Amino acid sequence: MQLYNSATHQKEEFIPHVPGKVSMYTCGPTVYHFAHIGNLRTYMMEDVLEKYLRYAGYDVTRVMNITDVGHLSSDADEGEDKMLKGARREKKTVMEIAKFYTDAFFADCEKLNIKTPDIVQPATGCIDEYIHLIETLIEKDYAYEAGGNIYFDTAKLEKYYIFNDFKEEDLDVGVREGVEADGNKRNKADFVLWFTKSKFDDQELKWPSPWGVGYPGWHIECSGISMKYLGEYLDIHCGGIDNAFPHHTNEIAQSEAYIGHPWCKYWVHVLHLNTTGGKMSKSKGEFLTVSLLEEKGYDPMVYRFFCLQSHYRKSLVFSWENMDNAAVAYNKLIARIAALDPTKGEVDEAAAATLKDGFVKALDNDLNTSLAVTAIYDVLKAKVSDATKLAVLADFDTVLSVGLLDRAAALRDKLAAEKAAAEAAKKAAEEASAEAARAAAAADPFVAEILAAIDARKAAKKEKNFAEADRIRDELAARGVTLIDTPQGTTYKIN
Ligand code: AMP
Ligand code: ZN
Repeated sequence: MQLYNSATHQKEEFIPHVPGKVSMYTCGPTVYHFAHIGNLRTYMMEDVLEKYLRYAGYDVTRVMNITDVGHLSSDADEGEDKMLKGARREKKTVMEIAKFYTDAFFADCEKLNIKTPDIVQPATGCIDEYIHLIETLIEKDYAYEAGGNIYFDTAKLEKYYIFNDFKEEDLDVGVREGVEADGNKRNKADFVLWFTKSKFDDQELKWPSPWGVGYPGWHIECSGISMKYLGEYLDIHCGGIDNAFPHHTNEIAQSEAYIGHPWCKYWVHVLHLNTTGGKMSKSKGEFLTVSLLEEKGYDPMVYRFFCLQSHYRKSLVFSWENMDNAAVAYNKLIARIAALDPTKGEVDEAAAATLKDGFVKALDNDLNTSLAVTAIYDVLKAKVSDATKLAVLADFDTVLSVGLLDRAAALRDKLAAEKAAAEAAKKAAEEASAEAARAAAAADPFVAEILAAIDARKAAKKEKNFAEADRIRDELAARGVTLIDTPQGTTYKIN
């Protein structure tokens, strides 16, 4: 597989550190608010990457953190802890909102068919690991204490800016966001590993440490959690493009300073989902959620399909018009799959393998999901049995997870229920009109006489008075009425 590596700025052949095994780390959500659909684009593309690696036969272990402490309002250690701001907004404790938004995050993931990573670790659960890391960095002279906080000294590194496109000016976040820059830092790029004296004294969650009671910086959590579960050699680290700097840059700095050798080989960054008005952002407070999509009548699968139609390394513009177009295409696709009959033909394994080739080629090429979606249409067009098509589509959906078969089955059930309801309504209308005809006929005195005679004959037969029954029949016959006995009862014909 060819994968674009942000650290080397090129596509590279993917070769894991241990043959056949992949260690994968994903920066998880900061749980102070609902995830917006931009965040979820990133998690969805990471989900496709994980599933494709499994599809390709790798044994993948994927770890994700949940940021429930230390992520300040700007990514570069300035401003207040996002969790604390969220707790204040909702008049709850930090742990209460962390639990609420963590659950909400995984509920959204489920709706979008995003698999839960093998290990999910809240940042507050690994404080000892961070303390150990920071102690080692101090011993190795990569970290220093100033003003009560512990900082990483970026001047000690040969190369700090890994993802190139960033310059020191980008660190002027304090100026940009109207908060004061931190005078304790020796170098502008230095970052906090442990806070004991922040400007925001009412930090709710604090732990004892060799440097005083405080809390960890955001960046150290991902290094600590990743190394705890995945060791010193990480194959893939992913996140949204805004994580590249400073977050991932700082993760690399502290992790490699700690272990003393290269740490993560492939850095995969998903570009942003933007609205027509610009970047979608949680901190701005105006953002779109999966629930909102549902309220507006969109199946979350339509959003997944929409995202898969474009490449993860291109930013994607969200608009309602784009969603509507995706919904039309998705619904047509599902209708075509629903029309396939699984009992038609056998699965042709050789034909299935050929159809899978296009899909594999697309995803092998830096996860080209848009071409993988095209491969679905190639299957539908192919001259193979319906059984073969359904088998191949089920195979593709283990990676794409856009509900190809279950949404098609739901559509088939819906159409069958609608057909049954229409037939029942037709039958009821027919019965009602037959009953109306019977009632109209019974209103005719001659017909009423015939019906009474039929009833009398039935009673006579029941009493085994066959002579009387025959007499009634003959009398009617003489008046030009023929009786017809059927298993459902006796009807008549007026000659
Ligand atoms: P956060 O919860 O803010 O820590 O972000 C969670 C993930 O979403 C991170 O990987 C971010 O890089 C990513 N992210 C943030 N904004 C967007 C966006 N507009 N589009 C795609 N991914 C995003
Ligand atoms: Zn992270």
